[in-house]
Amino acid sequence: MAHSEHHKERNSLAGLLERNVEVHAQKCYQCGKCSAGCPVAEEMDLPPSMVMRLLQTEEAANDEKILRSHSIWLCVTCEMCLSRCPMEIDIPSMMDFLRQRSRSEKKVHKKARNIIAFHKSFLNSIKWTGRLYELGLILDYKRQSLNLTQDISLAPKMISRGKLHLFPGIIKGKAQVARIFKKTSI
Ligand code: SF4
Ligand code: SF4
Repeated sequence: MAHSEHHKERNSLAGLLERNVEVHAQKCYQCGKCSAGCPVAEEMDLPPSMVMRLLQTEEAANDEKILRSHSIWLCVTCEMCLSRCPMEIDIPSMMDFLRQRSRSEKKVHKKARNIIAFHKSFLNSIKWTGRLYELGLILDYKRQSLNLTQDISLAPKMISRGKLHLFPGIIKGKAQVARIFKKTSI
């Protein structure tokens, strides 16, 4: 029986992550360094080390909790967790996979709709200016999310942390950027 168990394809999220992005949740020993270094952990319902813990159980209810979480949408792919993890677990790739899965299974957290609009605005901004024109990004975000009266929770924080600048700039590689968008037809 142990033999057949071994060969059974695991359809848990942990199994899918192993096969698709080579992330092995079982390697995590819960040192907590990823969550301690994550710049958005405070706003997360499930900080990265907690996501790892839930994955390890391979229980459907926990997988569901992960796919419906707000956390996977708050991750900004900064790679701080990856650089701190003693087991070199690629959490940013994992988060990316989980976001795709969450969308395909229609389990996107309610609050994440605005974040998806923000991502679209981000891509539009790069498409039109060759780089991020942050003020344009915020206005486009407001339009995309139809969130014209309510304040954005993320953007003001990013401005105060110096991550967003309020003046546009055009990079030299604009033509290349345009070609990339044409090729990938975003
Ligand atoms: S990549 Fe995501 S999970 Fe990792 S530290 Fe950055 S924001 Fe946090
Ligand atoms: S840093 Fe790595 S080993 Fe430590 S809790 Fe995070 S994923 Fe697990």
